[in-house]
Amino acid sequence: MNVRMLQRFKKIKDVTSSVLSVFSVETNHLHTYPNFTKNTFDVDRGPYRSLEEHHLTYFRDVLGENGLVVDLCDLEKYNVDFMKHLRGGSTLVLRPTATEQVSKILSFCNHHHLAVCTQGGNTGICGGATPIFDEIILSMELMNKIIHLDELSSVLTCEAGCVLENLDHYLNERNLMMPIDLGAKGSCHIGGNISTNAGGIRLYRYGNLQGNILGLEVVKANGEILNCMNTLKKDNTGFHLKHLFIGSEGTLGIITKAAIQCVPKPKSVKLLFLGAQNFTKILKAFNKARHDLGEIISAVEVMDHQTMEMVEEYTDLSSPIGRYPIYLIIETSGSDETHDEEKLNRYFESCMDKHFILNGVVASSTTQIQKLWSIREKIAESFYKDGYVFSYDISLPLPSYYDFVTEMRHYMGEKSHRVFGFGHLGDGNLHLQISVKEFSKEILDYIEPHIYKRVEELKGSISAEHGIGFLKRKYLPMIKSSVNISTMRNLKNLMDPKGILNPYKVL
Ligand SMILES: Cc1cc2nc3c(=O)[nH]c(=O)nc-3n(C[C@H](O)[C@H](O)[C@H](O)COP(=O)(O)OP(=O)(O)OC[C@H]3O[C@@H](n4cnc5c(N)ncnc54)[C@H](O)[C@@H]3O)c2cc1C
Repeated sequence: MNVRMLQRFKKIKDVTSSVLSVFSVETNHLHTYPNFTKNTFDVDRGPYRSLEEHHLTYFRDVLGENGLVVDLCDLEKYNVDFMKHLRGGSTLVLRPTATEQVSKILSFCNHHHLAVCTQGGNTGICGGATPIFDEIILSMELMNKIIHLDELSSVLTCEAGCVLENLDHYLNERNLMMPIDLGAKGSCHIGGNISTNAGGIRLYRYGNLQGNILGLEVVKANGEILNCMNTLKKDNTGFHLKHLFIGSEGTLGIITKAAIQCVPKPKSVKLLFLGAQNFTKILKAFNKARHDLGEIISAVEVMDHQTMEMVEEYTDLSSPIGRYPIYLIIETSGSDETHDEEKLNRYFESCMDKHFILNGVVASSTTQIQKLWSIREKIAESFYKDGYVFSYDISLPLPSYYDFVTEMRHYMGEKSHRVFGFGHLGDGNLHLQISVKEFSKEILDYIEPHIYKRVEELKGSISAEHGIGFLKRKYLPMIKSSVNISTMRNLKNLMDPKGILNPYKVL
């Protein structure tokens, strides 16, 4: 770091006791339960059979006693979603340990017309992972083995229930890392990530999972095991069936194994935490970063003052640079420390000179970087304490990106406690949050479909990375043509003619 830069950068204190802050659903004790989803939302139960004693006997034969959860208290954490908005009434969780068991379960459920809701880490935010009525929950939590790592090609093969963070730790010890990273990494499963085609902070650099998943093993609704476990980078032999399951949210098949293209762990990582006067300046700083930092940028995130205020209110974290209307976080990952530092110096100097940013801090050590990232990662944990939060995961063209938050703040007026925005700016993905004292149907109707209509008018997407799940399904026709939807329905009918896989979701 040069002298001028040292003067300008406010130095960040090294926090020796800092632990990577990762939200874990395990620690998310449910003090109050939401109402049953079937009572809150307008939805009718499908013509599925209810559980009978002989069904349980069969499942016990396949899985053994430990493979079943039937105790009412133990069932709650599987029935209630992460946001505590939804609550299913399932009386059975099945926990297979092998693909063959998943196959037997589905074949049986298909034959007996029993509905199934597959669950990974249950961190999904649009209600895809919890049952709506009494669907059997198929939890993938015990299918968590790492099968193989080809260190030369960096291809990792593992079971679908592996927790994302565990995979990353395993790879880190071998100088590799996962191509995906998100705040829920301590709980979410790779199978859940693939089923939602999750984005996260590394998408800017490594692209989405459609490109990084080389192979999948999937159990079809009728119990057949579909082996697409390719580990080659290139393989144009026939239809690319695996793509059907990436992002299909458990409605077309159950992912049991995956082959993932991993990436080398960067030798030099740095994090810039910048404060700016307004979003226009942030856009200028971002655009400049694309040109000046180029190939070393690995993540670009934004958060507004209201988001920071909330994190400060509910955690022991605070802005490292004091209060600014809006903040930009840029991570760089490269292979040459000196080269990266020189580039960063020039970029920062120039942004200050042009008044794109008002202040900033750079973190170079792992501890400092983790401490700064934890501010971003603690957002979800904080807003969960901020009353009932209506959470929207939208894509918008960059010029409308933050105007939309301001617009919604005016629209909500006194009706909301807080309207705030943060997100993956580099991917045009905004997380708009509206917190209110408590849920009411009136407020829901006031916010939706207004918000989706506006997103459509602004040529955005109503789901950038979280999926459709249960909560957004009625808005799908607003953004997809009838031909799109009928093609999706045809596929669903082909893959799951009796509709047992994750009913009431997506379509
Ligand atoms: C703090 C926090 C931060 C987050 N940050 C991001 C982010 O940056 N980017 C992002 O994209 N998402 C983010 N999310 C949302 C969520 O973590 C992702 O959607 C994640 O991919 C879900 O994984 P999961 O294992 O928890 O899946 P679940 O929530 O259990 O399930 C999600 C969907 O996938 C299906 N499913 C799960 N496993 C399987 C399987 N093996 N086979 C078939 N279907 C399956 C379920 O039926 C459901 O429809 C965040 C969530 C939290 C709580």
